[in-house]
Amino acid sequence: MKLEGKVAIVTGASRGIGRAIAKTLAKEGARVLVNYVRGAVEAKKVVEEIRAAGGNAIPVAADVSKKNDADRLVDEAVRAFGRLDVLVNNAGILVGGNILDTTEQDWDRVMAVNLKGPFNCMQAAAKVMVRQKSGKIINVSSISGLGGAPGGELAYSCSKAGLINMTMVAALDLGSHGINVNCIAPGWIVTDMVIRHTGSEKKFNEVKELKSGQAMIGRVGDPQDIANLALFLL
Ligand code: NAP
Repeated sequence: MKLEGKVAIVTGASRGIGRAIAKTLAKEGARVLVNYVRGAVEAKKVVEEIRAAGGNAIPVAADVSKKNDADRLVDEAVRAFGRLDVLVNNAGILVGGNILDTTEQDWDRVMAVNLKGPFNCMQAAAKVMVRQKSGKIINVSSISGLGGAPGGELAYSCSKAGLINMTMVAALDLGSHGINVNCIAPGWIVTDMVIRHTGSEKKFNEVKELKSGQAMIGRVGDPQDIANLALFLL
């Protein structure tokens, strides 16, 4: 029980990597806010699974790209559990497009969720954590943000590079308040995001084989790999 008594928000926890992180933190004793934007059924299922395993969690709908929603998400943690110790900024979207064909609308949407979302949530959470003089924030970026992106993910790669930089700046801003800010930059992890993005089962299997061959351990990542790293950082 490494997180006994702690309160954690995991954004985008209805599916994929966020779901694995929420369940892992709950297993270690954290009380978890399972955030989602559209997937109410999926988020409730995650909460039920956590409760069935003896943990404590509540689902909270909030669009992280909207400041009012992010503020409400953090308020809900304090209202429900009295404090906030952990924020995992995991919610994200992948919209394809290269420098020639990315639309302004797609650019704005990706930046709003992937970059402004973590900003909104970090700012709201940090105000509570500064008062507590402690807190841990983890931002989920991507290998795409480190310059390792395949073509055709322009807005996504830029948003994830921005998130790495925002992590470093926020870590400097908040370190003296007893708050750690770290970033995880996963490679290719099997979730709805990559299944949708590859477009067909055939293409998915081809990409999976390619990525497995490129990976040092000979297989692609699993959401639990990222959840284990998040727990290590916390
Ligand atoms: P996923 O399966 O598509 O899940 C995305 C999650 O984000 C869902 O829970 C979704 O909620 C939530 N979400 C989307 N927009 C939101 C918003 N505006 N406000 C709140 N929640 C929102 O994706 P994933 O693969 O698990 O990815 C999780 C994170 O890891 C993302 O930041 C992604 O960029 C990053 N990542 C993924 C990979 C990969 O290969 N999968 C690699 C590197 C980095 P709803 O269910 O309500 O829609």
